[in-house]
Amino acid sequence: MNTSKSSLPYKYGEYLVIQTHPLGQTLRLVKRTFDYQEARSTCEIENLANDYSAYDVRVYHDGKLWYFDSKKKLLKLSLEQFWHIQVDYKAASRDLNTDGEIIVHRCSYPYFSSLRTRLNRFGEAVEYWQPLTCLVEDWGNDIENCPNCGATLIDIEEYDDEEDLDDSHFSTPKSCQGCLNFHGHIYGNNALICGMHPSGWDDGDCPDYEGIPGSGVLDTNNKLC
Ligand SMILES: [Zn+2]
Repeated sequence: MNTSKSSLPYKYGEYLVIQTHPLGQTLRLVKRTFDYQEARSTCEIENLANDYSAYDVRVYHDGKLWYFDSKKKLLKLSLEQFWHIQVDYKAASRDLNTDGEIIVHRCSYPYFSSLRTRLNRFGEAVEYWQPLTCLVEDWGNDIENCPNCGATLIDIEEYDDEEDLDDSHFSTPKSCQGCLNFHGHIYGNNALICGMHPSGWDDGDCPDYEGIPGSGVLDTNNKLC
């Protein structure tokens, strides 16, 4: 008899086999059991049987999923949880006329990405995607970092429109650091890296690298210049 997907509520100390990759808006539960060995073996079988998805075991405690160690001691909150999305955001995400959708972060946390408009420094309207919270217990707040794992959610390259590109956004490519030939100025919207490789050299060691004497930077033969 398979009771693995029976409905909530989960009980204290229950082991849950969950899908950890790929993640959807609803966490996929494969098995629930109080038998640790049964949970482990179910998890191993699922991992062996599926090439494109991954599974792991969590323990249920205090309304949340937790990581635990080999002695079954609670370690910390699981990144994967049963998130509850606020109904208005669910509806907005499904509505094709709304410029916004629910995105599931790689850690499992769902957030709402909303299309907004701002003025750039030339006074032109520029569209950008703003992440905001959309959970039952926390919704409608603009966020820059994932509240669950801390990773940044703002795509800097998307946020900076091309005309905003200036020297302050330009950093020396790794293969050009300490090279005599490095130029690195912006003309219009294009960076001129050097005369020999205008777009730069990004495939390992540049054959035209010339170390600046006394710069302390290793040349391509790994000797101090
Ligand atoms: Zn995250």
